[in-house]
Amino acid sequence: MPDFFIIGGDAAGLSAAVQIKRKIPDAYLKVINKGEIISYAACGIPYVISGDIPSAEKLVHFTPESMEKKKGISVEIGKEAMEIFPEENAVGVKDLKTGKHYKEKYKKLLIATGTVPNKLPFIDYKEEGVFCLSNIQDLKQVLSYLRDQQPQKAAIIGAGNIGLELAEGLVSRGINVHIFELLPEPAITWPSLIREAIKKKMDEKNIQFSGGASVKEVTKKGKSFTLKTKEDSHEFDVVFSVAGAKPATDFCPEKIKTLDNGALIIDQKGNTSEPDIYSAGDCASVYHKVLDRNVYFPLGSTANKMGRISGMNMAGKDISFPGIVGTQIFKFFELSLAKTGLSLEEAEKEKIDADVSLALRLDKAGYYPDSRKAKAEIIYQKPSGKILGASVSTEGNAAQLIDPVAVAVFAGLNVKQLGWFDAAYTPPFAPVWNAWVSASLKHKLG
Ligand SMILES: Cc1cc2nc3c(=O)[nH]c(=O)nc-3n(C[C@H](O)[C@H](O)[C@H](O)COP(=O)(O)OP(=O)(O)OC[C@H]3O[C@@H](n4cnc5c(N)ncnc54)[C@H](O)[C@@H]3O)c2cc1C
Repeated sequence: MPDFFIIGGDAAGLSAAVQIKRKIPDAYLKVINKGEIISYAACGIPYVISGDIPSAEKLVHFTPESMEKKKGISVEIGKEAMEIFPEENAVGVKDLKTGKHYKEKYKKLLIATGTVPNKLPFIDYKEEGVFCLSNIQDLKQVLSYLRDQQPQKAAIIGAGNIGLELAEGLVSRGINVHIFELLPEPAITWPSLIREAIKKKMDEKNIQFSGGASVKEVTKKGKSFTLKTKEDSHEFDVVFSVAGAKPATDFCPEKIKTLDNGALIIDQKGNTSEPDIYSAGDCASVYHKVLDRNVYFPLGSTANKMGRISGMNMAGKDISFPGIVGTQIFKFFELSLAKTGLSLEEAEKEKIDADVSLALRLDKAGYYPDSRKAKAEIIYQKPSGKILGASVSTEGNAAQLIDPVAVAVFAGLNVKQLGWFDAAYTPPFAPVWNAWVSASLKHKLG
């Protein structure tokens, strides 16, 4: 019987496995993975489509063989967990090659199964030319289709981060893109400052955007797809369905407590509600420090950290994850867009009395070549001035800008304190007035 059994061989599962092996080198540990490819960077998929990254293989860090050789971790691919029997400390596994079902016992179990893409009822996903985009297998199929069929017109259903990153990739290949989104705006979970920048960029790049568009039907005739909304109908050569994803937890027993969307509720050590069963990554919830509750916030950054934390605790350490503050970033053509903490809309939804300060700054001295504008906003609570969040849109590097505010939100700093923070300045790299110093000093707290 393995001492440690891990379901899922990517970011969260393998981060945990590495920690267990580090702490207990002779641990009997087994990882199973449904897909054939393990240890891959799904985050890089849009950039293989755009051609910035030359091949899908570049996104794979370890094969099962190299994982065994370099880390001493055995990963069995093509094995799917079908059921968990907590009272027996056992998992029901299906060997996808042979069809054989068997039970695997464990002393400690980690569920790190990630997500499954939401499937829309009016789409036949078996049609050639219809794609989701959640893993390397999907990516390889997309690349073959783009190479062999040379599509000219693409429909993307869903205008979240992945839909937008995909749009950029397709436009870079000279493909016409039309995005359909049920909600009125693209990137609806992002603040208006970011959404406005995205809409402007879409116009600039001739991406058609249909907001508030409920797609009713997708049919294929010959090589062409007809996509119908309530209002009209359009023809395409290829259809991408990227309308969100849900935690891959359908096989888990009901006694493991979940959020409404099926994400396994875990504590800050990675424990689920059942003894000896841990979870991490996109199939699990995570503690949000600003909201002071568990939320669903699936990101690679968190999956790696929570996997590591769970693995350490499974191996006998006692370590707690302090929580996320909701920091995220993505690229849309020349734009670098980032957010941390809460937006004003989110603060209002939480019934927090909040205000916003804006700053328009350059990312280096104005007289220095290639200085680029950054539009930044900081959200703070009234009357305390506690920083709740921030967002930034720039053609420079938004990661560099958002990170100090992520620290400020994490540390519970006040907007008056951030107003005088000792930011770096030299003309080639930073302006004399840092965007956050400017925004913070404009607070309206008196
Ligand atoms: C296109 C795209 C772009 C992204 N960009 C970013 C980004 O820029 N920044 C960011 O932070 N995040 C990004 N993400 C999200 C990031 O990739 C995920 O948060 C991360 O991969 C989650 O890791 P995970 O280990 O929890 O799950 P996954 O990576 O989904 O791995 C789960 C593994 O479990 C296996 N599995 C599933 N069910 C079973 C089962 N029943 N039995 C056995 N095995 C099973 C699967 O085969 C899979 O290998 C992006 C995702 C995509 C798809």
